Parts: sequence; structure tokens; C-alpha cells
Amino acid sequence: MIYWDHNATTAPAPAVVQAMTQALTTLWGNPSSPHAAGEAAKRALVAARATTADVLGCKPSEVVFTSGATEANHLALRGLLGAAPPSRQRVLLSAVEHAGHLKMARALAESGVAVDVIPVHPDGSLDLNAAADLLGPDVAVVSLMAANNETGVLMPVCDLAELSHRAGALLHVDATQLVGKLPFDFATLGADAVSLSAHKFHGPKGVGALLLRQGVPLQAQTQGSQERARRGGTENLPGIVGLAAALTQLGDVATQAQHTRALREALEARWLAALPSTHIWARHTPRLPGTTCLRVGTLQAEVVLQRLGRLGVAAASGAACSSGGSQPSHVLSAMGVPAEEALAAVRLSLGPSNTLTEVEQVLNHLPELLRSVLADADQAPPLTPQPAGARLPASA
Ligand code: PMP
Repeated sequence: MIYWDHNATTAPAPAVVQAMTQALTTLWGNPSSPHAAGEAAKRALVAARATTADVLGCKPSEVVFTSGATEANHLALRGLLGAAPPSRQRVLLSAVEHAGHLKMARALAESGVAVDVIPVHPDGSLDLNAAADLLGPDVAVVSLMAANNETGVLMPVCDLAELSHRAGALLHVDATQLVGKLPFDFATLGADAVSLSAHKFHGPKGVGALLLRQGVPLQAQTQGSQERARRGGTENLPGIVGLAAALTQLGDVATQAQHTRALREALEARWLAALPSTHIWARHTPRLPGTTCLRVGTLQAEVVLQRLGRLGVAAASGAACSSGGSQPSHVLSAMGVPAEEALAAVRLSLGPSNTLTEVEQVLNHLPELLRSVLADADQAPPLTPQPAGARLPASA
């Protein structure tokens, strides 16, 4: 398999599997128990927290382990808002946040909280002027992803931190796609809270963290004494040990990013040469090194993915799929992309283990596999958006 879907998930590193296997077999005690098994588990938890803090540039006490980024995002938004004074009860978040995060913000709005959405420019970058206009003395928390999972576009976290703090608001950053792909340092980022998820950097699924700057008040969303009463519930020790092992084995992220970026550039150049009707979104905007979001004319994404699949490539579409239906991606829609183009979006997300040979292998064969559908598409009517729950036409 040629794995070009690193933004969806990554394979657990061998060191992660080993550390987790050991934790599952020998560290099954409850870290809160006052006996030998509990103390051994507690020691492993303390060590994993110290490693996590060391690699990510924060204090051990600033790490709150969670079940992943979704929970960390929820904890941040609800928790920071819940701890804010009554005079500050407004929330801002970007239009291109992760779908689960936007859904939660919608739930907050439905419960009566004032939630405002910061728009993005046509290239997917944040409209900082709009953010500045929306900020005011009633804003409790601003939430922004560090890098977009669909387009890879990097967001101006430091600038927004400055703007938010000037207005007296806190900044939460969803760094789920950034950690492991580009250098990350909590101490210099400027954010008050940061979410991450281990399976995006070769750790296990179902574990992540919220990094919370010391002294920032947070209302727990699950009650219990664990995680300094900020996230109740018996700790997922094998997962936490796996997360720390994944961070330890990351290596030189900056050098890996250079390799991945060069590969992505080679892929984009060859793809454009082989399939000239291709459009690449945010091509000239700072992006994650391995992410490319493109369309081949307005060929529906499933057609391209099916042909890529025949060549052994695992990739993703940009559309949100639900029960057989397909909706244009909210990210591309927020960038002003028409639905018929957004439904053609294919996301390729490369990682450091990918090679130029793979790129050449795929692009030597893909144009031939798409030739007949591209010829048909010249005469075919443009693709129209499918209602949720409706069937997509069978792939050509
Ligand atoms: N935020 C971003 C930017 C993501 O890409 C993802 C995963 N696709 C999440 C949050 C959610 O992560 P998890 O499913 O691991 O909780």
C-alpha cells in the first residue's frame, strides 16, 4: 500500500507498540491505588507526563491527558468558557475548525451562548482583520486550529494570540495536525490551551492531551480527582504510555518536514503536468509539508480515489460523507469554493516514510486510468451536490 492519508491517522511506531504491550501486561494497576501495583502504574504515569511535557515544551502540571483531540477541544471550549466571568461569555472560532469542534460550538450557540465565526480568505488562511473586529471585552475564548486537516493551511496562531490577549480573551489552539509534522513548542506558541491526539503522530488512538498554561482557570467537564481534578476518570495508562513513546520517537521533525515538503512539491508538479485540468487549493499559501488538496477538473472525488486505489494508494476525499451521501467540505465552502468543485476534492497527505519512487509510480499510471472518464467529463453535465443521505452516482 502507498499510504497518502497521514492526516487521517498514522501507524503506531514499533516503540509505541512495545511500550503499550509492556504497560498492558505489567502496569495494569490503578494509578490512584495505594499499593505496589498502583504505585508502579503511578510511576509510569508520572514518567509519561514528564516526557510529554519535555517534548512539547511545557510543564508536567500543564498536561491534561484526554481521550483525544475531540475531547481536548470540547474540554477547552466548554471548560475555559465555564471558568470565565459572567461579563465574558462570548466565544469565537474559525469557520474551518474540525467538524466535531464546530458541532460542539453549534450546540453551545443553541444553548444560548454567543458564538461568532471568524471567516477565512479564499486561500484558506484566517481573516485576521475580521478576528480583530469580532474581538471585544465580552469574549472569553477564541479557538483556532494550528493547521487545517483538509487543506494543510497553517494559521496565524501567534498573531491571534496577541490580538486575543490584548482584548483580555484566552486562545485555544487545536494543534492536532501540527504536532509531529512541524516543530512545536508550547512555551513560545502564545496559546493558553492546546489540543493534540496521539494517533496523528504514530501513537495509539483514543488518547490525547490538552496542554493548559499554568494558572489558566478551567472548569472540568468530567468530575474526579485525576489530572488535578481537571479531567476526572481513571487514566488510560497504556494509551498515555503510548503517547509519550510516540513523542519520544518523533526524531528531527524539521528535517523530516523538509523531506516531506520536497516530496509534496514533486508530486504536485508531476500531477499538474500529467493532469493539466487539476487545481490545487492553497498551493502558494504556507501549508503542512505533506498535505495537498486538489481536484481533477470537476471529476467527483470518488472516481479519482477509486483509480488511486487501483494503484494501491490510500487517500481521502475532502467531502463529509454520511450514510452514503456526500456534502461539500465545510472548509472549502468557507473558502468560497463552489459545491461542484468542492465535491471533487481529493486530499493527499504524505509523510516522511513516503518516497519519490511511489510518486513516480502513481503518476506514470494515473493519467491512463483517468483517460476515459476525463473524456466523458468533457461532455458530461457538471456535478451537482448530493443531499445528505442520497446515493452518489456509481463510479465510472
Ligand atoms: N482536530 C483536528 C484538526 C483533526 O484533524 C482531528 C482528527 N481528524 C481532530 C481534531 C479529532 O481528533 P480525534 O478524532 O483523535 O479526537
